[in-house]
Amino acid sequence: MGLLEGRVAAVTGAAQGIGLQIARTFVAEGARVALGDIDDAAGAAAVAELGGESVARYTHCDVRDAARVEALLDTAEQFGPIGVFVNNAGITRDATMRKMTETDFDDVIAIHLKGTWNGTRAAASRMREHGRGAIVNISSLSGKIGLPGQTNYSAAKAGIVGLTKAAAKEVAFKNVRVNAVQPGLIRTAMTEAMPQKVWAQKMAEIPLARAGEPNEVADVVLFLASDLSSYMTGTVLEVTGGRFM
Ligand code: NAP
Repeated sequence: MGLLEGRVAAVTGAAQGIGLQIARTFVAEGARVALGDIDDAAGAAAVAELGGESVARYTHCDVRDAARVEALLDTAEQFGPIGVFVNNAGITRDATMRKMTETDFDDVIAIHLKGTWNGTRAAASRMREHGRGAIVNISSLSGKIGLPGQTNYSAAKAGIVGLTKAAAKEVAFKNVRVNAVQPGLIRTAMTEAMPQKVWAQKMAEIPLARAGEPNEVADVVLFLASDLSSYMTGTVLEVTGGRFM
């Protein structure tokens, strides 16, 4: 029996990177998964890779649009009542405050913070009716420590921690759990774009002396999504190789 046998899950930003790896891990553990993203071609390819429409379905879902988040939940519920929702979609628009535009700030806040609120609110509203559910929000180490060049991203990712705890308190009595994960340096398209000098500098800060892989984040998300964490809510788990512990 898989850890998510018979469960129905939805993951935002699931066409690539950590989100796609979360979907792979969930399917391998017996879940059926709805994938939301803004890259439709990659979303369709992800469904095919995961084993087709019997286990995974894609819908266009810009997390800034609450109606599209509801559409993602509707897609998931073609499989059955939603049990797990992962708010993963994200972007970076790094620049020092001197150079960051207002649009860079607004876009990052809208996708990470408002997007996570849209997802948490919509998923919790359905899960409380089902009497059970687990929501996992992807924050970042940047939200714990604050990183230069990321005043937008650090603010959004710290905001996700507050949102997670407040939501956890609101819906615990309905048996809906809300937790967060803070990844450190993980090898994906988002980080591979980084200049080599910045990469090397970050590596020097990591006690385990290597970058993490998407599956190492997905396994912790699986833990928070499954009954293995049945007595945990409002927590933030760091997946950082010990960086800034
Ligand atoms: P990624 O490879 O860039 O994947 C993010 C996905 O989200 C992409 O498919 C992206 O589509 C999609 N997306 C962007 N804007 C969206 C929107 N408005 N609505 C729905 N989907 C949208 O990034 P990743 O590294 O896997 O990151 C996944 C999550 O982990 C993010 O929340 C990120 O902040 C967090 N995180 C990552 C790291 C790391 O080291 N990689 C560390 C800490 C936290 P497009 O490609 O078309 O933009």
